[in-house]
Amino acid sequence: MFSNSLIEADRRHLIHPVTAWRGHEARGATVLTSGQGMYLTDGDGNRLLDAFAGLWCVNIGYGHESVVEAAAEQMRRLPYATGYFSFASEPAIRLAERLAELSPPGLERVYFSLGGSDAVDSALRFIVNYWNAKGRPTKKQVIALDKGYHGSSSNGAGITGLPAFHRLFDLPHDWQHHIPAPYPYRHAVGSDPQAVIDASVAALKAKVADIGADNVAAFFAEPVQGSAGVIVPPRGWLRAMRGACSELGILLVADEVITGFGRTGPMFACETEDVTPDLMTLAKGLTAGYAPMGAVLMTDEIYAGIADGPDNHLPVGHGATYSGHPVSAAVALAVLDLYEGGILANGIARAPQLAAGLAAITDHPLVGDVRQAGMLAGIELVADKVSKARFDPAVGLPDKLARTGYANGIIFRAFADGTIGLAPAISCDETDMAALIERLTRTLDEVADMAEVRAALR
Ligand code: PLP
Repeated sequence: MFSNSLIEADRRHLIHPVTAWRGHEARGATVLTSGQGMYLTDGDGNRLLDAFAGLWCVNIGYGHESVVEAAAEQMRRLPYATGYFSFASEPAIRLAERLAELSPPGLERVYFSLGGSDAVDSALRFIVNYWNAKGRPTKKQVIALDKGYHGSSSNGAGITGLPAFHRLFDLPHDWQHHIPAPYPYRHAVGSDPQAVIDASVAALKAKVADIGADNVAAFFAEPVQGSAGVIVPPRGWLRAMRGACSELGILLVADEVITGFGRTGPMFACETEDVTPDLMTLAKGLTAGYAPMGAVLMTDEIYAGIADGPDNHLPVGHGATYSGHPVSAAVALAVLDLYEGGILANGIARAPQLAAGLAAITDHPLVGDVRQAGMLAGIELVADKVSKARFDPAVGLPDKLARTGYANGIIFRAFADGTIGLAPAISCDETDMAALIERLTRTLDEVADMAEVRAALR
């Protein structure tokens, strides 16, 4: 058990991401102390099955010595090397080369960021520079999806389509626009896959027509909308959006911060639809959370547009002290070895077991919709299966789910709208997946049996 002083110090000093600050103080921190495989241990000694891979990032599970060794060895040899002034380190170069090889054909150039938010922010800056350099300075407006998440930088949080990131932050900016999410369960056109795809293409075209094609720079989208509650678009959606962007003369940015590195099956979700975006943002699974790092990949066309712009003897003024950090790059190389050494294949082999577990809970009294892409899944809970009405926030469903899950030894994401998010490590074995499904089902049963929840069910 941790001394109260640690929890007190947290209350007094540590600001936590995306929490109600006073609410967190009242609740107090849950301190995690170690991890091994799929399991985390907390300060009270509880062992918890991590069905969310940290924050959908620890794709390889905890405790891989090869990754620890790669970091330690790099720290001993050269803990830091700047990329400024044409310096470089071997891991950063090797990692850029490897990402160019692994990513969809055409993405050849790599800029390293520190995580996903500044990957998105960097992509935005590159896009502005590109269109200016190409002599198209009016192309500044950006379109994204409702409920999309693209990080919380000053500009990225406005591309994000979640009200929580806009409220009291004066966002979105007037150059940031959103179109409806490809959300079959709740789409105005119904759940027919082709109708949802057609509606998205039509909405993008209508938005561009409204703003004027000469004014639109890019369309940002996640191949699967993770923070929206794991919204999985119909197969063919990304390809159709790629086609529409090309037709409209706007850039496509695929934000694969969650979907990259085997989360949906292949190394990148774009592969499923044979799509090469103009830019791709990465983070999370790149280092499997063992060290901070993100990346922006771009085609030679975008690279050349910037490189060969006016006054191109002057620096492209974008950078960060830790861009291409050698320790993070060494970690990423070791993590890629693990993906290619069997973990990616394991994720593909394990996904059907997750699908079977989800199929078995589809008829559960709380479950309105289940959706899955590889080792990424969402379970949307509703108070009324016919009207699809969500639970009244007063019921406190997300908190009940998280607490009951914790008591049952499982951590998952309990979204504010009552959706459960699952993103277990793609290294998950059969026994751990069976435990995940058993603990999740038990949690759903226990929550459904609570008096306030029963009273709210229609
Ligand atoms: N883009 C997507 C699709 C994400 O899911 C996230 C984080 O969850 C981000 C960007 C931001 O990444 P980070 O939290 O590393 O800044």
